[in-house]
Amino acid sequence: MSNIEHTLSIIKPDAVERKLENEIKEMFKNTGFNILKEKKIHITKSEAEEFYKVHETKPFYNDLCAYLSSGPIVVMILEHEHAVLRNRDLMGATNPKDAEEGTIRKKYGISIDKNSVHGSDSVENAKIEIDFFFKD
Ligand code: UDP
Ligand code: MG
Repeated sequence: MSNIEHTLSIIKPDAVERKLENEIKEMFKNTGFNILKEKKIHITKSEAEEFYKVHETKPFYNDLCAYLSSGPIVVMILEHEHAVLRNRDLMGATNPKDAEEGTIRKKYGISIDKNSVHGSDSVENAKIEIDFFFKD
């Protein structure tokens, strides 16, 4: 049985602004991910609020949604064996200070809020998040 999964990745505004898109995509490709679909978009604050609804009770929710809608982002569907976990591994810890060597957040993250990438945290959420951006 194949363990191929799809997950949603976002290159966040801090990384797009620093023109790190291609370097980050290379990290995905070098780890064996296929980028099945991608688009660069600029979402509204209310779209960000819907996307991050799971965090609506958190103290950082408002700033997080303002930030994700503050500039262009690149959203991608990534394919790999165990894509959800493999992507979480490649991203590294939420706080770049805690991220391990070789991870995207260690290499490019600026701070806990400007941490350069988003990745789905479960297969179930990956489906929801992929639909959010790619269901037309
Ligand atoms: N975040 C933040 N402050 C915090 C925790 C999280 O600004 O104290 C932001 C951060 O950008 C993170 C996002 O909220 O990537 C979503 O948080 P989550 O815990 O889901 O982390 P992730 O899944 O992105 O590692
Ligand atoms: Mg998360």
